[in-house]
Amino acid sequence: MGWYDADIDRVIITEEELRGKTAELAKQVAADYASVDGLLLVCVLKGAVMFMADFSRELGKVGGPPVELEFMAVSSYGQGTTSSGVVRILKDLDRDIAGKHVIVVEDIVDSGLTLSWLLKYLESRSAKSVDVVALFRKPEAIKVPVPVKYVGFDIPTEFVVGYGLDYSERYREVPYVGILKPEVYQR
Ligand code: 5GP
Ligand code: MG
Ligand code: MG
Repeated sequence: MGWYDADIDRVIITEEELRGKTAELAKQVAADYASVDGLLLVCVLKGAVMFMADFSRELGKVGGPPVELEFMAVSSYGQGTTSSGVVRILKDLDRDIAGKHVIVVEDIVDSGLTLSWLLKYLESRSAKSVDVVALFRKPEAIKVPVPVKYVGFDIPTEFVVGYGLDYSERYREVPYVGILKPEVYQR
């Protein structure tokens, strides 16, 4: 029992389902990238950090190519109230990605605005190819069509926490994904 269990209204995706889906996604990526000599995984902090850790290890176990891990942190201006899609880089890539096969590792695609900006940015840095693996997608919330090649789960348009996803910087360590009780938001 974690301290957080009492705050969760219902579990949407269990640890077991997360594990199974991560393995499935890793197998697809390993098959599609069988002929490349290396892959650069770009994790979008902080939400995708658990997924990055599990996905990268799974990719190795199922015979994927050698990977390098990079991390970026971005923040969207307007906090969802405006749809400008203007993004500020809080932490940039540490190295040059020119000529590399890149996969963006995302937690969740909501409006798609952040991701759409990020893909343009990575392409402008001359990556050889750029694909996206997103653990979650909210299909009803997509404002801009963004090509996400690998999607774990389509989930309803509700606010979820756990497995890296936060509410006010908390609940990232929750091992499953769930919806908070309404009273949590009144604290
Ligand atoms: P967008 O696709 O709208 O540009 O932004 C997506 C980002 O908003 C995600 O990477 C994630 O950090 C955050 N986000 C979107 N939906 C949820 C959610 O249901 N729960 C949490 N904790 N964060 C979310
Ligand atoms: Mg994200
Ligand atoms: Mg957040």
